[in-house]
Amino acid sequence: MTERYRNFHLQPLAGEWREGSGKDARAVVNPYTGETLVSIRSATSADLDAAYKKAAEAQVDWAEAPLAERAELLHKVVSIFDQRKEEIIDWLIHESGSTRLKATIEWDSARAITQEAASMPARVHGATMASNIPGKDNLVFRRPLGVVGVISPWNFPLHLSQRSVAPALALGNAVVIKPASDTPVTGGLLLAHIFAEAGLPAGLLSVVVGPGSEIGDDFVAHPIPALISFTGSTPVGKNIGKLAAGGSYLKKVALELGGNSPFVVLEDADVEQAVKAAIFGKFLHQGQICMAINRIIVDQRVYERFVEGFVAHAGRLKVGDPSAMDTAIGPIINKSQLEGLQQKIAKAKEQGAKVLLKGDIHGQMVPPHVFGDVSPDMDISREEIFGPLIGIQKARNEEHALELANNTEFGLSSAVFCGDLYRGQQFARKVRAGMTHVNDMPVNDEAHMPFGGEKNSGLGRFNGDWAIDEFTSVQWVSVQREPRQYPF
Ligand code: NAD
Repeated sequence: MTERYRNFHLQPLAGEWREGSGKDARAVVNPYTGETLVSIRSATSADLDAAYKKAAEAQVDWAEAPLAERAELLHKVVSIFDQRKEEIIDWLIHESGSTRLKATIEWDSARAITQEAASMPARVHGATMASNIPGKDNLVFRRPLGVVGVISPWNFPLHLSQRSVAPALALGNAVVIKPASDTPVTGGLLLAHIFAEAGLPAGLLSVVVGPGSEIGDDFVAHPIPALISFTGSTPVGKNIGKLAAGGSYLKKVALELGGNSPFVVLEDADVEQAVKAAIFGKFLHQGQICMAINRIIVDQRVYERFVEGFVAHAGRLKVGDPSAMDTAIGPIINKSQLEGLQQKIAKAKEQGAKVLLKGDIHGQMVPPHVFGDVSPDMDISREEIFGPLIGIQKARNEEHALELANNTEFGLSSAVFCGDLYRGQQFARKVRAGMTHVNDMPVNDEAHMPFGGEKNSGLGRFNGDWAIDEFTSVQWVSVQREPRQYPF
């Protein structure tokens, strides 16, 4: 592996690169080879406190920095992303088990949000507004929140940290990241090295590496951060929402949580194209994506054709070494996720799903498993799968397909395939999800388009103007030009 940046056992904590103060070190393991990549000593709540305090101090000058200075910093980060493309992709392959294709997509998404963020300092708008009170001018200012705490998951660690870190810093905030324990390098330390190389002043970006179960509550409840931007599972996200609202310091939360994306195929769809889209939207990154297809719903009139094409295509996917160019499916991130998938396979069989495709599990490699005649009440339909397994449901007609699509507590992404594009658009607007794609699959993220979910998939939106709203706050300032007449 190419390695310009070394010293990944050190964390940027409160302006210095040092080891965490915890007693234990945790090995970061390549999920394909089992090799230890680095061993990192955990940060403690005292390290976290120091990081937040230093962030609050450093943020004051950063918020006052000329817009061009903050924009320039982000442009430098983009150019380092370009120079270190292979190194970043290598780390994603080795640490998160990303296939080369997925790692490249992730590098590209993280680069795109950085470039988008570079334009944000100059896109912050205020307003002047009329008043009901004679002689008063109303002004609306937008300003940084202050310090933002970012908690990210292991599946798209680089991008899902960077989509908060880049806009937050560009808009004049300081940031403390808590990456997932499986991916501390790509979820935080690598980004910190890149920002430091680009010239970000010390203390504005700290990374605390430690299990969520140990430092998570203090990370959220600490008095300094004004926003906790969390991406991860729904149960942990709901708990973070409670802590942020129920502690002694109320703060904003952005919660990007689990999904259960439906992929609907109506009877007038181009079935061959729908099969290709479904394969990509299901199996990219072994299905470990919040937007991944979780349920396939096919009109009964094209069900047999779709199933035949889908099973044949899934059976040809190469499972194996994620660094090989032609590998479609790499390893599952860790043993506990693997065990969860094994239980889901057993449960689907037990609940009567018909096995259409299966394969042997070797180590952490799970080949595609496809189940037919699946009903909406089976666990494989109701729960987030997060792996290369899928159930296919049969719909009687369009109305039934819509009912099945909306039959979920989640509402992140979704997709519908059909021949008539206007019909597709009308269908899309009835789906209760934050994102719906017509004649495409649900795994889509563009740096200028609103990303986020409804229902148990979360609160808030990332990207573009929506990120400017999330990472700034509004202040109403009124100026009374003439003495006001008071009634008493
Ligand atoms: P997770 O919720 O287990 O962990 C996410 C992060 O939260 C990790 O950094 C973890 O250390 C931390 N954490 C755990 N317990 C915590 C606590 N008590 N307090 C504070 N932080 C804590 O999720 P995961 O397994 O890493 O990721 C998979 C999940 O993330 C899936 O449900 C997936 O759908 C979701 N996800 C959502 C999006 C989105 O944009 N909506 C994107 C990717 C992943």
